[in-house]
Amino acid sequence: MSEHQVRTGGIESKLDIVATSYVLLSIIGLIVCIVISQDDKVKAVGLSTFCIGFGVGVLVQGVLSWVLIKAGAEIIRLLKKIAGLPYAGRISETEGMGKSFVCTDCGASVSVLDKYCTNCGSKLE
Ligand SMILES: [Zn+2]
Repeated sequence: MSEHQVRTGGIESKLDIVATSYVLLSIIGLIVCIVISQDDKVKAVGLSTFCIGFGVGVLVQGVLSWVLIKAGAEIIRLLKKIAGLPYAGRISETEGMGKSFVCTDCGASVSVLDKYCTNCGSKLE
């Protein structure tokens, strides 16, 4: 059993909060735009379609910002990891159907391109 200490603090954890707040605000923005578009006065001047379009635009840029802010946080985490510094949050993992390879000696995950294990240094076949 291995203990994983979850750390807090650092700009990377603040970026996570900002990203989540941003996407939530953009969802609220979309809802507000839809509500405004259903107003009779707005319908009377023919702006309800514009309002919905604007709301969708707000949501799209919110989601895009979320991805970019999350990517920024991940870059900080990776740099801190490389520098051997503690970092808050977690680095995203790639999911999918790809094959993964593990060292037969130590069990560390290795790349298919590796000739030697990056963890224990034993030759890979
Ligand atoms: Zn190994």
